[in-house]
Amino acid sequence: MSYVIQPPAITALPVRGSDALFPVRRVYCIGRNYAEHALEMGHDPNKEPPFFFQKNPDNLVSCPESADGGNFPYPSATSDVHHEIELVVALKRGGENIPVDRALDRVFGYAVGLDMTRRDLQGEAKKMGRPWEVAKAFESSAPIGAVVRGSEAGHPSSGAIWLKVNGAMRQEGDLNQMIWKVPEAISYLSGLFRLAPGDLIMTGTPAGVGPVERGDVLEGHVDGIGDLKVRVV
Ligand code: MN
Repeated sequence: MSYVIQPPAITALPVRGSDALFPVRRVYCIGRNYAEHALEMGHDPNKEPPFFFQKNPDNLVSCPESADGGNFPYPSATSDVHHEIELVVALKRGGENIPVDRALDRVFGYAVGLDMTRRDLQGEAKKMGRPWEVAKAFESSAPIGAVVRGSEAGHPSSGAIWLKVNGAMRQEGDLNQMIWKVPEAISYLSGLFRLAPGDLIMTGTPAGVGPVERGDVLEGHVDGIGDLKVRVV
């Protein structure tokens, strides 16, 4: 059977130490998973638990682990695009209603990613009670580095996560500050959706989010996972 149009390309990420790629199916994101970030956004983390939203797989920008990194084109329809540095979880198996103590069996590996956000459009959406796609799921909104296998990196539950803009530290946190730890996020998410191989979970951002401008160089890091370099163009 042929297709009436060219089928869309499969989005894929490089895997460190391999020529094979990690193909991406869905991109789940956790909102307000670090208490300090929830507070800076004006929310009480004790009253409002984290939640999920999604980006589209073809919103990803695969950023090579080279000196040049990747490019993030400044998007249309905004004048306030924010950086959110995040640990990204890549699943090799899925399922529904996955118990917390079996959740890490599903993990292929981890990557460093940015949940780029049109903060002005998100603010309007929040005010109007509207969905977040225009703020979160736009072109090139998810620059992500290489995936490192869990068998190589382990399953980090603590370690520094930070982002510098033009060499100045902007976001600093520790993975142990996540409200929903990785196994809890997988388990909770699997009660809402049928997870599958190729799914990514962006696990939320520590405090210190802020705007970027064309020409900025963003350098992100997660201990034990890697580095990410992105230029705003
Ligand atoms: Mn985020």
